[in-house]
Amino acid sequence: MTQALPKVIIHGGAGSSVGHKERLLTLREDLHSIVNEVYSKAESGARARDCVVLGCQLMEDSPHFNAGYGSVLQSDGQVRMSAGLMDGEAQRFSGVINVSRVRHPIDLAAYLQPAADRIVSDYGAAELAREMGLVPFDPVTDLRLKEWMRERASNFQSAMAGVVAETVDVPADSESRRGTIGVIVLDGSGHLAVGTSTGGKGLERLGRVSDSATPAGTYANALAAVSCTGIGEDILDECLAARIVVRVTDGMDIATAFEKSFAEATNHGRDFGAIALSQWGQIAWGKTSEVLISAYHTGDGVGDTLELDSGTLTGVV
Ligand code: ASP
Repeated sequence: MTQALPKVIIHGGAGSSVGHKERLLTLREDLHSIVNEVYSKAESGARARDCVVLGCQLMEDSPHFNAGYGSVLQSDGQVRMSAGLMDGEAQRFSGVINVSRVRHPIDLAAYLQPAADRIVSDYGAAELAREMGLVPFDPVTDLRLKEWMRERASNFQSAMAGVVAETVDVPADSESRRGTIGVIVLDGSGHLAVGTSTGGKGLERLGRVSDSATPAGTYANALAAVSCTGIGEDILDECLAARIVVRVTDGMDIATAFEKSFAEATNHGRDFGAIALSQWGQIAWGKTSEVLISAYHTGDGVGDTLELDSGTLTGVV
């Protein structure tokens, strides 16, 4: 077993605007503290998959992101959450789709990792939460409820809910959107894992399925791991996470895999972002949206993508 320097990258959504300076600073503080906590766990020798679950739980607990507590409401005013988890070493996917009243949807995905049936939805997810003995939890925040009521007043004209839960009242035509979370870890043994957790697009029709608990939004093998965020239908149409992982597996370096995949996405008019790690320790990100809310730990220090220019951009550190 080789001893490698752990690496971590997380995201808190992609969209059209982070908002005002104050919000940027709050987000940066949140992201940096979470990335540091996940890195410490990885540094202490924990497995990639366990570090990913911790990172997802921490982000699900933050009301600033659209996952767990602080999830957006669907068109009928209910929260339904989805999460996907993939262990790169085992190349094993598990997930939960449209679960309600749990605190950490990622815990259901983690519980299903060794199971014969590895993706469950709706009624089955509720049964699973009962089987796991989870205490019922109401993830609705006042801010998300207000956002939904504002949208109802304008007859649900917005394509998606806010990327970050607003800290102040914003006009109904606010451009800010989304806020799904994703975590990828390369552990000290050189193993990869990835998790993605979401409240969905927000305001969607009942029964709509997010990309997050599919290999389009969350995918990993021994060589690369990718988590996506943005318009789920666009991510599914590109099969983005699996597309990038397969390119790296077939010999393309991760920088080229991102450049090619995001050039294609631009040509197809897609609106999303993605983060990745390779087995060789490269940290990668890309976006067609204006902003990608992401932070990473290189082993030497923390960086983020909060103040990138708008438009299609990719990067590797
Ligand atoms: N991809 C998520 C969905 O479409 C939303 C997001 O990433 O913010 O459900």
